Amino acid sequence: MTYKDNTSGSNEDRDPRRQRVGQVKEITSLTNPIIKDIRALTQKKNRDRSSSFMAEGLKLVIDALDLGWQIRTLIYAKAAKGNQTVDQVAARTVAKGGLVLEVSEKVLGAITRRDNPQMVCGIFEQRYSALDDLIPKTGETYIALDRVRDPGNLGTIIRTADAVGASGVLLVGETTDPFSLETIRATMGSIFALPVTRAAPAAFLNWCSRHKVHLVGTHLAGAVDYRTIDYTGSSTVILMGNEQAGLPDELAQGCSELALIPQAGRADSLNLAVATAIMLFEARRHLLEVAE
Ligand code: SAM
Repeated sequence: MTYKDNTSGSNEDRDPRRQRVGQVKEITSLTNPIIKDIRALTQKKNRDRSSSFMAEGLKLVIDALDLGWQIRTLIYAKAAKGNQTVDQVAARTVAKGGLVLEVSEKVLGAITRRDNPQMVCGIFEQRYSALDDLIPKTGETYIALDRVRDPGNLGTIIRTADAVGASGVLLVGETTDPFSLETIRATMGSIFALPVTRAAPAAFLNWCSRHKVHLVGTHLAGAVDYRTIDYTGSSTVILMGNEQAGLPDELAQGCSELALIPQAGRADSLNLAVATAIMLFEARRHLLEVAE
């Protein structure tokens, strides 16, 4: 996405803080083309076209910069003006060739679609890891999701995978967009912490057998109690089924075993993100300890 500078001359060039951080544009109008482009990122086709996405919050933006993600635009509220940390982030954005926008509360609310928006947002370049670049090692755990549909589930799973120390998230088949606003919000910043990869089912199974991973599928008709599986051997991939349909036969047949989380009540199944959390924490239980 190319951003055009349409802001008319203001007294901004006389502000020493602005001179320190480089170019800062002040925008108060919702009809500004830069703001229109940013607001358009709520639609997947625009995120895909520009290969960018929005993340909200100062901490998230700092984490992303620290982890080497490419920032395109930093947006902060007028009220954050003079905040030293925001100034530093603005300087880092400019140093990386990004644009810095100081906007009104109204503009920030419209960009984030929130009544009480965060003071700072960043527009970042999307990043997917190539499947062939993922080389699973002994002791590593990956989570693979078959056609995950719900953005909140996907974001929660990425956050959980990060929290448990998993090495990556594999999206198998057609899935919801990991860079949608809802997913990014639910990741709470974990989107920046671990690789996300896309793969067709056949390519995924091929990768699993090429790297001799221990592929554990989860299935309501699973024959193995998930607590009895040995997760300590080679690298483990936990494969979760689609929210409505569960795992298709093509994927289920490629698994070393099909694990079941035993249930007692009337519920047919667990929520996908909850089942994923149970599996991931069990698979890495031997590696997790409370810090002294
Ligand atoms: N109607 C779907 C079915 O028949 O499989 C339910 C899918 S469930 C909401 C979504 C995914 O969560 C499942 O495909 C499976 O991967 C996992 N899951 C949920 N409850 C589970 C359980 N008790 N044991 C094993 N996996 C479970």
